[in-house]
Amino acid sequence: MTDGTRDGGGTAAPVALVTGGSRGIGRAVVERLARDGYDIAFCYRSDDQAAAVVGKQVRELGRRVLARRLDVTDRAAVRDFVTAAEEELGAPAAAVTSAGITRDQPLVLMEDENWDAVVRTNLDGTYNLCRAVAFPMIRRGGGAVVTLSSVAGVAGNAGQTNYAASKAGIIGFTRSFAKEAGRHGIRANAVAPGFIDTDMTAGLPERTAKEMRSRIPLKRFGTAEDVAALVSFLISPQASYVTGQVFQVDGGIAL
Ligand code: NAP
Repeated sequence: MTDGTRDGGGTAAPVALVTGGSRGIGRAVVERLARDGYDIAFCYRSDDQAAAVVGKQVRELGRRVLARRLDVTDRAAVRDFVTAAEEELGAPAAAVTSAGITRDQPLVLMEDENWDAVVRTNLDGTYNLCRAVAFPMIRRGGGAVVTLSSVAGVAGNAGQTNYAASKAGIIGFTRSFAKEAGRHGIRANAVAPGFIDTDMTAGLPERTAKEMRSRIPLKRFGTAEDVAALVSFLISPQASYVTGQVFQVDGGIAL
């Protein structure tokens, strides 16, 4: 789905790519960046209906949008997505890797397919997008990347060895990318959310959710918009001297 209209008909808007843009944090990032004036290319895995709603919202904000259904573990599909976004909207100024899954199990019971699915989606998916946008960003003269890690990737979490490993890997990846790409004007930062109200946390038993809320100094789960506000700042020129950092947006739970 692409909309050919541009607001004002004047100078081209900057372009942002977002994985997992149909729901949760990715969706809030898409909406926030569209409000910030970005044309948007986003991908999602399965929920066509949710993606259509997000696409409509972006167009209503006067921005162009390309939405593509793909699996971020499919390297060729991610490359095609980035090429299509560049051809239809322009070179990417920003990229945000929000597509992610959990498959929680204690290590002793871990099913190999749950290890593989989580690492491939979260870590390989992040690599796949960043690998594909690196050259286009260099050709453009720079850009900003924000990866979605997690407090579990910083501190670890019982029952989430697969998820925590993938999210810790994202931190090492992001810092290394920042060191490599800084000379090309590319900044890369990681955002590490705590408990955020999305479908991902909706399955928590109410007793666990209540206990977690009581441990959070701000006494609530964050909203997807809380995370999107930080992402918006990190890709903006206001953060032009910030790179290679990990920012926790977690209501203080990690203190
Ligand atoms: P969510 O509500 O479950 O949404 C996940 C999004 O990713 C959906 O748009 C989904 O598309 C897409 N997606 C999943 N697997 C994909 C794949 N293989 N290929 C392409 N797209 C895929 O998740 P969320 O809570 O917004 O989480 C977003 C990111 O923040 C994740 O990386 C997560 O690990 C991280 N995070 C979340 C929390 C939290 O508390 N929510 C905390 C820390 C970190 P479909 O709907 O089409 O499947």
